[in-house]
Amino acid sequence: MPKKVVKSEEEWKRLLTPEQYAVCRQKGTERAFTGAYLNKHEPGVYRCAGCGQELFVSDTKFDSGCGWPSIYAPADTNHVAAQSDTSHGMVRTEVLCSRCGGHLGHVFDDGPNPTGLRYCINSASLKFEQKDGTKKDAPAK
Ligand code: FE
Repeated sequence: MPKKVVKSEEEWKRLLTPEQYAVCRQKGTERAFTGAYLNKHEPGVYRCAGCGQELFVSDTKFDSGCGWPSIYAPADTNHVAAQSDTSHGMVRTEVLCSRCGGHLGHVFDDGPNPTGLRYCINSASLKFEQKDGTKKDAPAK
């Protein structure tokens, strides 16, 4: 497993924007259809907004219509962790970054082939890096 990134709440508050902090560290959810990466289709990789670990690649992103970036597989199964989430009167599977423990979103079993999974992920939890590496979205402050 990747080496863990552990920071205090104060450090995370300094490192992340208020929106990133609310989603990644407080398990918040960005409003549907508002995320920066919902309609992004350029080739590249999506890294953790908190620690930079590679989480998803653009090849596996698809339009689910649910309002959040949808991906059918992680870049590496060791890079994401899952745990049961029974909040809000639902039983869901929460998805977290395996390195920093940051909340990413949830995974559902109504995705397309080949996995049948739909990783429903907040844009705020991600940082996109274009495939050729020349253009990166602004990192967390
Ligand atoms: Fe992370």
